Amino acid sequence: MTQKKKFIIGNWKMNPATTSLATDIFKKIQKDTAHLTKTQTIICPPYIYLESLARLQGLSKAAKKTKKKKKESSHTLAPVLLGAQNLNSEPMGARTGEISGELLKQFGVTHVIIGHSERRDLGETDAIINTKILAALNWKFKVILCVGEKVRDDDGHYLAFIKNQLEQALAGVKKENLKSLIVAYEPVWAIGATEAIPPSSIHGMTIFIRKTLFDIYKTRTLTTPILYGGSVDSKNAGEILQQGSADGLLIGRQSLDPNAFTAIAVTANTLS
Ligand code: PEP
Repeated sequence: MTQKKKFIIGNWKMNPATTSLATDIFKKIQKDTAHLTKTQTIICPPYIYLESLARLQGLSKAAKKTKKKKKESSHTLAPVLLGAQNLNSEPMGARTGEISGELLKQFGVTHVIIGHSERRDLGETDAIINTKILAALNWKFKVILCVGEKVRDDDGHYLAFIKNQLEQALAGVKKENLKSLIVAYEPVWAIGATEAIPPSSIHGMTIFIRKTLFDIYKTRTLTTPILYGGSVDSKNAGEILQQGSADGLLIGRQSLDPNAFTAIAVTANTLS
């Protein structure tokens, strides 16, 4: 069986403040993670930085081609991929302030975060999330679908809540599209907090989400990566990946610190 790569994904949200800072952080991450063969790093910056970062990424691709020509393993350079934080389900048109798949494709964006709790807070419903996922798949993006409860209750109602989020988000998504799906479990109360939730609890959730995917698709979905997000740092990343059996991490604040982000990616690489 081929070893699955771990996904280490940075969500920069509305940061950093300048293009020059964005390119500096990205370059450092590119350089310091280039040797990782078992980890896929992805950065989701604000849209206005995509063009500059795509140019830097182009250099990586060129370097990769050169290496291939020299008959070295293509695994010697791990490119940092680019992701978007959202997309509108329409391809073009009168959608003030929105971004479309057509626009994102120009910059080599491969992944799109959909359903982040901060977008849900702005009024994005499960039905809207579903249309965005269908559009993203149509555009051949890989979808990073965020799900997670706002609060936990002792009676386990939050499990039904997450099941419902998954069922609604994936309505009409075909089985064959599961290869383009990554699920990020992000308990809202752990995002931007001081601590991640315990790895044992993450382990339970990865099993629950996998079981829910099985119930929806009636097929083994072991290849769908299930990530954890919420106050991940270089200290807790290892145990979340190992004991939490997460296939990767979605990282907010720590993805803006290239040293911390790289340390997390290196940890993931050693555990893969
Ligand atoms: C997030 O917003 O998806 C997130 C995980 O943020 P943080 O890592 O800062 O908690």
